[in-house]
Amino acid sequence: MATPDIAATSLAFSHTPHPAPLAAEARAAVLANPGFGTTFSDHMVSVQWDETHGWHQAEVLPYGPITLDPAAAVLHYAQEIFEGLKAYRFASGEIALFRPEANAARFNASAQRLAMPEVPEALFVEAVTQLVQADREWFPTVEGGSLYLRPFMFASEAFLGVRPSKQYRFLVIASPAGNYFKSGAPAVSLWVSEYSRAAPGGTGAAKCGGNYAASLVPTAEAFARGHDQVLFLDAVERKWIEELGGMNLFFVFADGTLVTPPLTGTILPGITRESLLALARDEGLTVREERYSLDQWRSDATSGALIETFACGTAAVVTPVGKVTGADGEFVIGSGGPGQTTQKLRQRLVAIQRGEAPDPHGWVHRIA
Ligand SMILES: *Cc1c(COP(=O)(O)O)cnc(C)c1O
Repeated sequence: MATPDIAATSLAFSHTPHPAPLAAEARAAVLANPGFGTTFSDHMVSVQWDETHGWHQAEVLPYGPITLDPAAAVLHYAQEIFEGLKAYRFASGEIALFRPEANAARFNASAQRLAMPEVPEALFVEAVTQLVQADREWFPTVEGGSLYLRPFMFASEAFLGVRPSKQYRFLVIASPAGNYFKSGAPAVSLWVSEYSRAAPGGTGAAKCGGNYAASLVPTAEAFARGHDQVLFLDAVERKWIEELGGMNLFFVFADGTLVTPPLTGTILPGITRESLLALARDEGLTVREERYSLDQWRSDATSGALIETFACGTAAVVTPVGKVTGADGEFVIGSGGPGQTTQKLRQRLVAIQRGEAPDPHGWVHRIA
């Protein structure tokens, strides 16, 4: 959908400070033990879109409930997309976002697939920046902590006909996040689902809430069987490994090769995935984006040709996979714990994200 010709970069944000921000002591308690996704900072950003005005009414507001008409299209037809990225506070006190332009680009690819207006990259980055600056006291004090940012857009028009909405809201909220991957984190156990996450021509490459709604039953099934995550195979041949419910997968071979499934339209193009591909090439690893089957994985893990597997995404960064269970039995990866390449790549990425290592690819976006 075309975006009206507005100079979004010139959109001025109004600021309404929170009248009663969380008291410093209570905030300090949250920041010392933030968990993930349960507490939100004092403010949020809201920007509105309609056909007449394009993007307008950009605001930094007190965090709080929003009102929606019961007929709002998102509540009926799930016209909604989101992003997830992190802001880090460096030892120097500087604050930086990791690759926000990549999130903006993916947000707009998702918007196109869901028939929504694009958010100009400058507006997306500005919205995120404004929120981080308003809530700069909300960075966790625990090692490995970050401020997780959740930009999202939904159809707000009150209309039950089936067509793209004519009104949207773009919001950004922030949640302090702890370190998912404490040192020596246990490797996760995967359940190979018989459900499909995405089909050719579907919305698998878009970061939309609907994909997650469809993954909840398979994920609950994995939990009920005692596993940590669900693994999805391709929907056509039920043979090729695609990804987890919210993380991409990498395979590490004894000969130093790294393989990850290619972006064919049914896999979410992870920014962590892309960053790790670049870092692996920097390390001199042979990197291939190619299809890899569940049968081959089992036989390579058993023969020792494959020594590690890890999952990756913004929230947990890099998570080792230790065990895989499907309808026809289970197999263990390597020693069943985190492998060397997994740990090395994770450390390289985390050091760049936290400003502790040079940033040769220009991924770190300092904002203050
Ligand atoms: C967001 C997401 C990922 C990971 O993407 P990152 O940009 O690395 O956070 C992987 N798979 C799915 C289904 C996702 O929604």
